[in-house]
Amino acid sequence: MKITIVGAGPSGLYFAILMKKLDRAHEITLLERDAPNDTFGWGIVFSDQTFDYLKENDIKSFNAINRACQRWDNVDVVHKDEKVTVRGNHFSGVSRLAFLNILHKRCLELGVDLKFNSNVADLNELPPCDLLVGADGANSLVRRTFKKAFDPTVDLRKNKYIWLGTHQLFHGLTLTFREHEAGLFIAHSYKFDDSTSTFIVECGDATWRNARFDWRSDPETCEYLSEVFKKDLGGHALLSNNFVRWLNFPLVKNKHWHHNNVVLLGDALHTAHFSIGSGTKLALEDAIALAKCFKARLDVPHALAEFERVRKPVVDEYQVAANSSLVMFENAEEMMHLEPIDLAYRLMTRSKKIDYEKLKKRDPEFIAAYDKWKSQQKGRKRK
Ligand SMILES: Cc1cc2nc3c(=O)[nH]c(=O)nc-3n(C[C@H](O)[C@H](O)[C@H](O)COP(=O)(O)OP(=O)(O)OC[C@H]3O[C@@H](n4cnc5c(N)ncnc54)[C@H](O)[C@@H]3O)c2cc1C
Repeated sequence: MKITIVGAGPSGLYFAILMKKLDRAHEITLLERDAPNDTFGWGIVFSDQTFDYLKENDIKSFNAINRACQRWDNVDVVHKDEKVTVRGNHFSGVSRLAFLNILHKRCLELGVDLKFNSNVADLNELPPCDLLVGADGANSLVRRTFKKAFDPTVDLRKNKYIWLGTHQLFHGLTLTFREHEAGLFIAHSYKFDDSTSTFIVECGDATWRNARFDWRSDPETCEYLSEVFKKDLGGHALLSNNFVRWLNFPLVKNKHWHHNNVVLLGDALHTAHFSIGSGTKLALEDAIALAKCFKARLDVPHALAEFERVRKPVVDEYQVAANSSLVMFENAEEMMHLEPIDLAYRLMTRSKKIDYEKLKKRDPEFIAAYDKWKSQQKGRKRK
């Protein structure tokens, strides 16, 4: 088969790897507008489950990714200057660049024609192929080109976010709430190598305007936010890279997932708010699911239909969970009166995937402290 993939993010790269593994005779061209060492973002987090999938599907890249990862089992919630730790939540953090570089290497080993610095401006310029994959991210050109057929919705959410880094090491997935003169700021941070942490800041539109971010340069933005999170950064600066922009999270959905010989994967097809750390996992699982349809020897139209049939319910479920999480962060101001332990409990159970019983199994000490706090509250109310 002649396969053209637009976009060498996690979904495009992994799909290329799996298809080459299925049959080396596939001619796969992967077009990426950036250079191999350019990427937006700093580190990404994965839940453990993702790694089983990677292990089953390509042991070589799995081993390399595994070696590049940092691991932790705690979520820390910082509120009113108090840190509440919830253990038993296994995550791995990895530099997005290191992760992509591993997949680049694997693609090249397998004979994928990986072309960097190749921006696709018009799909008509591409040579004919049997399968065209739009793995070109949330602002997908492939999706926009076939807008009528895919029937997408892109809901730009109301909070602004910016993806920064820092050399302060956050040993765990840390959610920090800081009330500042401009309004509420929330940081999502975790270390992803021995010297660097991801530090994503989000805030409401009013806070963003009060802080005059529309007038601030990148260094000024970092400086301002370093001041907001001074107590958390231990004297370390916030760092930007060339890809830093304040954005509104685009919640992407598509009514139809394929059209003729064209299919979408990953963020081009669906996004899940970064607060549940599942975007990359979903992108990789899409690649796995689509490759499986070809492994079953289905032809292109049947493989694409089967991909949608199998995968859509799973993605829909994730999007529901991610949406509850997104909405909670959008309305975080309403929770700022909560005690830190109560806020931590509500955050842990926000996506409805984790409940009281699961938390009790994961971290009995946390639940004991939460129960104690609750009974104290009841006692106070009775008096
Ligand atoms: C702030 C933030 C934090 C996140 N944190 C996490 C996290 O911790 N864990 C997690 O799992 N996920 C996280 N995600 C989500 C994750 O980044 C995405 O879900 C994931 O990268 C999707 O992979 P993809 O391959 O579909 O698309 P992308 O990674 O977006 O890759 C698309 C590629 O296509 C290329 N491209 C686009 N248009 C063209 C074109 N016209 N021609 C050629 N190339 C093109 C782009 O340069 C890019 O390399 C986060 C996202 C954001 C915004």
